[in-house]
Amino acid sequence: MLVVKFGGSSVGDSNSFKNVASIVEQAIVRSSDGLLVVLSAMAGVTNLLINGANQALDQNLSESCQTIELIRQKHELAINELFLATACKQELNLILENYLKELFILYQGISYLGELSAKSLDNISKYGELLSSNILYRYLLSLNIKADYLDVREVLITDNSYSKANPLMSEIKNKVFDKVIPKFKNTPVIVTQGFIGATQSGSTTTLGRGGSDYSAAILGLALRVQAIEIWTDVDGMMTCDPRVVPNATVIDEVSFEEASELAYFGAKVLHPLTIRPAVDNNIPVKILNSKNPTHKGTLISNWVNPDLNKALIRAIAFKTGITAIFVSSPKMLMAYGFLAKVFAIFEKYQTSIDLISTSEVSVALTIDDKTYIKQIIEDLSTLADVSVKENLAIVTVVGRYFRNQSGTAGYVFESLKNINILMISGGASDINLSFVVNDNDVKPAVKLIHDKFFAKT
Ligand code: ADP
Ligand code: ASP
Ligand code: MG
Repeated sequence: MLVVKFGGSSVGDSNSFKNVASIVEQAIVRSSDGLLVVLSAMAGVTNLLINGANQALDQNLSESCQTIELIRQKHELAINELFLATACKQELNLILENYLKELFILYQGISYLGELSAKSLDNISKYGELLSSNILYRYLLSLNIKADYLDVREVLITDNSYSKANPLMSEIKNKVFDKVIPKFKNTPVIVTQGFIGATQSGSTTTLGRGGSDYSAAILGLALRVQAIEIWTDVDGMMTCDPRVVPNATVIDEVSFEEASELAYFGAKVLHPLTIRPAVDNNIPVKILNSKNPTHKGTLISNWVNPDLNKALIRAIAFKTGITAIFVSSPKMLMAYGFLAKVFAIFEKYQTSIDLISTSEVSVALTIDDKTYIKQIIEDLSTLADVSVKENLAIVTVVGRYFRNQSGTAGYVFESLKNINILMISGGASDINLSFVVNDNDVKPAVKLIHDKFFAKT
């Protein structure tokens, strides 16, 4: 059994749907006992759905209507270009119309109430995936590929942390056993949605932006598949984001650990939580290019290729929009328990800390999620002097044997002589060296390091 996930970048228009259908056809051959296709919304659609909600919140319902129009045009065009039979077109256009009517009612509600909760936003965000999966399912049928459709909310049960819901794995396993496995007795392919789920009482949740990769991993685990394939618009996991470093190259194999660090620190090609379910169960994850399907892509697995042991660094990732909090107190001098108090505040506000660096009387921390920044600073101020710096970025260099290999850090920082480095964190892991720069320095910094390590390869 296989799970194949196609991101929005693989379903941007009618031609890409055609492409996906042909990849699905080939995947059926590779997966004799069942193929689960997990689909994201068409490129840009989730952003449009969210924009429309914010426009409604700002009392600009006419702008929300224009956004609905853009969503309609994008899907209508794909539908009209994909289907020859009038009946198919009519059926899908009707589904589209009904979803857009519901969407309008939701936007109206937001505008009247002047309120947009995470729960409402999840309810709105669902339409992108519901539409794309309906289109692909019916397109496969039109090609005489025997396929079935699954509303993933019947099986992907989560808690009620709207907009960043957590899967309830034992529930999911039971539901998959009851509702998915039997379907495979009658069909080789099931098309379903990524990103969305439902609480036990049936209200729609989402796994967070970019969460379709995570859906693929969760469903792959529940189905105990032989592999999870993440089909996207690049040839695999690369030495850096190719949009920033055009001469970045594909990494053939990475370990789960390396891929987790890269994903967590900004390699958008993979949602950071994807790896966990796979690693726990030894399921290999492949990253493949739907625009270049014959490329072998990147294999992420527990196996570490010994030939690569000597490579100084493997890849560079970066994450922008970071905030650093500098906490400083003479009370810290020779004291114990101070850091515990600092961390307790972050725990209270459920805000995860990315990087930490400490001196005797101060500690610097970075966070990505600024939702509770005001409260965090207020609480920290009762303990120490606090200062905050926004618009920063984390650069993460992932390599091997950092603790035992001399020269790597020197090599990295040598290339950054003209870049202001605000914070450095290394040594916690053997494979990660991270530092913080101003947002506008991040691209030059990343290019300089990439040139230093990979220019001649
Ligand atoms: P999808 O719509 O398929 O989920 P995403 O846009 O989420 O695609 O992720 C693919 C993008 O991730 C690529 O187009 C690329 O620009 C970006 N990316 C960032 N870092 C990396 C990296 N290290 N390797 C490959 N792609 C990366
Ligand atoms: N469509 C969702 C998003 O844009 C989920 C995904 O693409 O993985 O965030
Ligand atoms: Mg993605």
